[in-house]
Amino acid sequence: MTDAAALPGQPRGGVLSGPATARAVNVLAPNASAMTLDGTNTWIVAEPDSELAVVIDPGPLDDVHLRNVVDIAEKAGKRVALTLLTHGHPDHAEGAGRFAELTGTKVRALDPALRLGDEGLAAGNVVTTGGLELRVVSTPGHTADSLCFHLPADRAVLTGDTILGRGTTVVAHPDGRLGDYLDSLRRLRSLTVDDGVHMVLPGHGPVLEDAQGAVEFYLAHRAHRLAQVETAVEDGYTTSSQVVAHVYADVDRSLWPAAELSVLAQLDYLREHGLIGEA
Ligand SMILES: [Zn+2]
Repeated sequence: MTDAAALPGQPRGGVLSGPATARAVNVLAPNASAMTLDGTNTWIVAEPDSELAVVIDPGPLDDVHLRNVVDIAEKAGKRVALTLLTHGHPDHAEGAGRFAELTGTKVRALDPALRLGDEGLAAGNVVTTGGLELRVVSTPGHTADSLCFHLPADRAVLTGDTILGRGTTVVAHPDGRLGDYLDSLRRLRSLTVDDGVHMVLPGHGPVLEDAQGAVEFYLAHRAHRLAQVETAVEDGYTTSSQVVAHVYADVDRSLWPAAELSVLAQLDYLREHGLIGEA
């Protein structure tokens, strides 16, 4: 979920539906909203010459969408062999049980409550299906259970809600924590700098073709917001709703409840680092 519309200075991307890389195809779920941008991106990922595919984030519980994902895989000559979740928010995970039923697959996720079958997912795991290799990257912050999937063969990373194709994401306090989120962004930056990742395949919005630029933009945006929140507190805006009204004045009001979660996460962070006094 997002906390802001498109922002100036942000890297521009392309591909909302259909093939994005040699191995990844996006099927857009029909759940567009202020919080989900164009809708949830459900990713079908497979080696070009393999009959087996992995689906990342089946999306909302929408039978037409879930069947559409299966059909698109089948038309490409693939059978869905495994379902993975980037995190447990319903716009990504609610349809996972039904999708697993339609495909006969297991569901792997960090959070044991979301799994179907005996296998979880953890940082450093390498998922191999039909020759496809996905490396699991721990990226808590949007939520505690957020993961990204590094697809080295396409120099791409599937980011769920950790990085979006447009705008910026919510640090969903109290489950999501800002310190974790900044560490996760730095981890993704190292994927772009040290491992040659150049494409972001996000959970919402278009593909970003300058992954490092996107990560730098997110880090700069978070630093900017954090400074704004710190200044607002120093100027006497003490409650989270006062801070939202002051700092997010330029953002559509429908996004203020989400922005307030990010503000609460930022207030926690500032307190923990001794940058503002206790509430
Ligand atoms: Zn989410």
